[in-house]
Amino acid sequence: MIEKRKIDEILGGYGDFKIATICSHSALQIFHGARQEGVKTIGIVKEENKRFYSSFPYAKPDEFIVVDSYAELPIETLIEREAIIVPHGSFVEYVGEKLDNVAIPIYGNRGSLLWERDRLRMIEWLKKAGLNIPKTIHPEEINGPAIVKFPGAKGGAGYTIVKSYGEFLQKIKKENVIVQEFLSGVRAYAHYFHSKTSDTGYKTSNGSLELLGIDRRMESNADEIARYLSIDMKIPLSFAVIGNEPMTLRESLLPKMMEMGRRVIETGEKLFGTMWGPFCIETIVMDNLEIYAFEISARIVAGTNLYASGSPYSLFMFGESMSMGRRIARELKDAWKKKLIKNIIY
Ligand code: AMP
Repeated sequence: MIEKRKIDEILGGYGDFKIATICSHSALQIFHGARQEGVKTIGIVKEENKRFYSSFPYAKPDEFIVVDSYAELPIETLIEREAIIVPHGSFVEYVGEKLDNVAIPIYGNRGSLLWERDRLRMIEWLKKAGLNIPKTIHPEEINGPAIVKFPGAKGGAGYTIVKSYGEFLQKIKKENVIVQEFLSGVRAYAHYFHSKTSDTGYKTSNGSLELLGIDRRMESNADEIARYLSIDMKIPLSFAVIGNEPMTLRESLLPKMMEMGRRVIETGEKLFGTMWGPFCIETIVMDNLEIYAFEISARIVAGTNLYASGSPYSLFMFGESMSMGRRIARELKDAWKKKLIKNIIY
């Protein structure tokens, strides 16, 4: 991984900063939020998407850098323009492992993105944080519904449910899969923000934690399965993310959710240094009200797109409309003013 010192040197040459990201995933929200905070933005875009991203007057970037492929970032141009990258899900996917060595300031921590990418490491992170997690099952021991996850699967596409070792052997041809007990409950994806600059919020060892929203993903076709069952169509469950729905949680579950966020941060800090900015814990809440966590996203998640004008929780936290995109821009602005920017960029 590129040395932090090198990133600090690049940042040291900046007289101001702009927020840059790839035009995909949650880019509209990131640009819109930055605009609300008066921070200039750069959209890294493919020619064919420029027309779309130009069509929202309040969410288009201030300038575009057109590229042929998102796998090759225009590093020199970005540095010349004093860009800080805000990574999102598609960014992590398109840039892939190259992200570790890209010589450009990135908001948050590269280390956490590395842990997020590797499912076994992520499970270790959740375990060390003391969260309830679904059991990982050896294929020979499958005895009841289990979900088979593939490495590098994007947004749940291709996951398969099997109920026995025989079915596993018959259906699963890929290697390096992870088999987990299939939990039944209500899914809830909590959007957190860990701030270095704020002195409000839920205290953590080095900063403060904010809960800005909760969503539920709509996955095809798992979330429409009742329609098929009602007409006796037998369709296997699948989990390709199509969109998101807003949700709130029973208020009595929120303190637990907040504690889970704190523990994920403090464990992350021990495992890979610091952990700043947006992240999400994907959970399933069982009927006994126990919360199980099955995934962490160590960056902005697309579920936050629901709350471009704020969520109930962000309203309680800020008293004004505060999207995750806006929160990121405000944090960068405050950290810049307070000369703390190097602490939250790597
Ligand atoms: P992931 O790639 O881990 O985010 O999972 C994609 C989707 O699969 C989730 O949004 C859930 O709907 C489903 N899923 C993942 N793990 C489990 C599990 N252990 N039990 C039940 N559903 C799961």
